[in-house]
Amino acid sequence: MSKPSFQGSNINLVKLHNLQVVLLSLLHETNLSRVQLAKKTNLSNTTITNLIAELIGAGVVSEVEETASEPGELRPVGRPRTSIQIEPNSRLVVGVHIGVGLFRVCVANISNEMLQSQVMHFDVAIPAEQVLAQIVKTVETVILACGVERSRILGIGVGASGLVDFQTGVNLLAPNLNWHDVPLRDYLLQALNLPVVVDNNVRTMALGETYFGAGRGVDSLAFVYGRTGVGAGLIFKGQVFRGSTKGAGEIGHTTILLRGGELCRCGNRGCLETLISEDAILRQADQISRLYPQGILAQTISDENDISPIERVFRAGRAGDETVRAMLADRAFYLGVALTSVVNLFNPELILLGGIFSRGQDFFLQPVIQTVSQMSFGGMGKRVRIESTSFGWKAGVLGASALALMNFFYQPEQANP
Ligand SMILES: [Zn+2]
Repeated sequence: MSKPSFQGSNINLVKLHNLQVVLLSLLHETNLSRVQLAKKTNLSNTTITNLIAELIGAGVVSEVEETASEPGELRPVGRPRTSIQIEPNSRLVVGVHIGVGLFRVCVANISNEMLQSQVMHFDVAIPAEQVLAQIVKTVETVILACGVERSRILGIGVGASGLVDFQTGVNLLAPNLNWHDVPLRDYLLQALNLPVVVDNNVRTMALGETYFGAGRGVDSLAFVYGRTGVGAGLIFKGQVFRGSTKGAGEIGHTTILLRGGELCRCGNRGCLETLISEDAILRQADQISRLYPQGILAQTISDENDISPIERVFRAGRAGDETVRAMLADRAFYLGVALTSVVNLFNPELILLGGIFSRGQDFFLQPVIQTVSQMSFGGMGKRVRIESTSFGWKAGVLGASALALMNFFYQPEQANP
């Protein structure tokens, strides 16, 4: 781990910082005039004029003349108001979300709007190199389908399951994928000849929400994702919190049952993941359908072959299967207990739920809010907002493209860690 260092800034870094501040201001608020932009960023009118000229020259922003004045605005009659806007399609990025058994690839613009996407499934038993070769092919296909020049693509952001070293782009350990020390960044960089940045997939989801979704203007945010595994991405003052050895946010492996818990993939017993992951819920559902062969769940499982197993469980619950509803309420309680620890440790302003917690939000959200509200210390649980992700199934891939945007466009100084 690097020691803390205190470094000065030279004039180029100051300019880079100011450009970043201007671009982030324009991302958060549209239709700002030069004067408003100067006020917001605390920069002089001259500096703003120079920076905007540079950005217009690069084709990244444009000036729009508006003739109608806003109510209460003092402006000489007939003089148009000029506002500065980001040109969304002037630059593009690629997002790659690697989950367990599937990956998604998208091309997104600098407003993080998805232009093209593709999903592919893979067998977790195949070697990592084969999965990476499939990813490379899919990235080429998606770029081609977009019909854009490659020179407009700034880089690739990858959000991968498991423990990821952001600095080296190596996936250190992903037990659910059987991956160990997979050099994601170097492989993709060599195969695709575009800059690549890699982080844990739940962290990228948190980053995506912070700059482009429900987390805009939020100071501290936790994104909690559940599917095969359970993890959290933590953002503080717009920056991802990764921890001293890259593992911050691994809430799936916090011990919830101190005695008699099931064995987890990590080797411990009673981890949160053994209680509320997709597999854990499906194991519970399996018991229910065996116990009640005439019940709604057993019927749903035999009738609804076109939807995923977890969707069948949710559908049975929505159709009124009380045993399923009670089981899901029980699972939601465990999730609430885990989020109470997140609130007590991190005291976030907003917690967003993704994956199965979002798809089954009608079962999870209210009980989780209630548990966190009751159990958190000193009323913190009453003040934290808990919501479902604003991106639905796109959270992973739009998180990955957000990672690329933050590293290669909005915060360029982070591009060379
Ligand atoms: Zn575990």
